[in-house]
Amino acid sequence: MTAGVFSYSAVLMGSPILLKLFDDNPTLARHVFQLIKQQENLFTVNRAESEVMSINHAAGRHPVIVSEPVFALISVAHAVSLLPESAFNFTIGPVVKRWKIGFQGRAVPPALEIASLLKLTDPHQVLLNPAERSVFLQQPGMEIDLGAIAKGYIADRVQAFLRQQGVQQALINLGGNVQTLGSPPHEPQGWGIGLKKPFGRDDELLGVLQVQGKSVVTSGIYERYFELDGRCWHHIFDPQTGYPLDNELLSVTVISDRSIDGDIYTTLLYGMGVEQGLAYLADQPDIDAVFVTRDRQIICSSPHHFHFQQLDFDWQLRY
Ligand code: ADP
Ligand code: MG
Ligand code: MG
Repeated sequence: MTAGVFSYSAVLMGSPILLKLFDDNPTLARHVFQLIKQQENLFTVNRAESEVMSINHAAGRHPVIVSEPVFALISVAHAVSLLPESAFNFTIGPVVKRWKIGFQGRAVPPALEIASLLKLTDPHQVLLNPAERSVFLQQPGMEIDLGAIAKGYIADRVQAFLRQQGVQQALINLGGNVQTLGSPPHEPQGWGIGLKKPFGRDDELLGVLQVQGKSVVTSGIYERYFELDGRCWHHIFDPQTGYPLDNELLSVTVISDRSIDGDIYTTLLYGMGVEQGLAYLADQPDIDAVFVTRDRQIICSSPHHFHFQQLDFDWQLRY
C-alpha cells in the first residue's frame, strides 16, 4: 500500500466505486460521488426515469429535447454505432433488456424473439437534431442503452473535476473503468492496475499494468454472465445476431488518455477479436490493448503507454 493514500468507496451505477486521493479530503470525495450520481441519473436505463428513459418512452411517437451532456454522449454513441462493421450498437437496448444478463436472466430467449427484437436495433433509425438538441427513435419499441460508454464518459468527467480542484494525483475506478491523474507520490513508474484472472477470485491477478495519467478499461465476459449447456452467456452482444459475442476472447483491456475511448474500443475490439484487433491498433498509436484469450494467452499490442508485469505464469504472454 502506498504511503499517504486515502481511499473512498461507494456503490453507484450498480458497481463498486473507488476513489484514491493523497490528502484526507472526504468533502472532495463526497462531491465526486455526487457528480457520478448526478450523471448516472441522466443516463441510466435501469430505472423508470432518466433523460435517456424519456427518449425511450417516446420511441415511435415524438422527439425528446435533452440536456447537453446527454445529447453529446448520444451523438458519440451514434457515430460509433454507424462505423463500418462496428460491434458497438447503442440501440441494442431491446436485446439487452430481453436477455437480462447480470440481472435475473438465466435462460436463452427463443430465436424468433431475438430475430424480431433485432429489427428494433437499427442506429440509422435514430434522428438527432443538434439545433434543438432532440433525439427521436423512429420505431416504437426502440431503446437506447449507453451501458458500453457511460462509465467511460463519467470517469473523464471525474478526472476533469479533480483537475479543476487542483488535484494532481488521483485514481477513480468505476467498476472496471479506471481513470488516473499523474502517478502516486514516490512511484515514478505510475499506478499499478491489476488485470484480473478471468473467472478467478477478486485477488487473483494475471498481472499488473503500470500507467501514468492514463485510463485503463477492461471489458470481460466473466463480469456479468450465466452458464447454461456448457456455455457462458455474457453481457456483450453481437449486434448482428442478438447473441453474446462468441470468439476466442475472455477480456479486452484498453489503455488510452480518455476513458470514453477505452470504453468504446473495448467493445469494438471485442467484436474484432485478437488478430483483426491487433492489425487495427497498429494504426492507432494512442490506443493500446491487452487481449486475454480462452487458450490462456495474454496478448499485448505494442505497449506505447503502459508496462505489463506478469504474475501468473500459467498464462502465456506475447506481444
Ligand atoms: P461493463 O458493463 O463490464 O463495463 P461494457 O463497457 O462492455 O462492460 O458494457 C456492457 C454493456 O453495454 C451491457 O451491459 C449493455 O448494457 C451494453 N451492450 C451490450 N452489448 C453492446 C453492444 N454490442 N454495443 C453497445 N452496447 C452494448
Ligand atoms: Mg465499454
Ligand atoms: Mg464498461
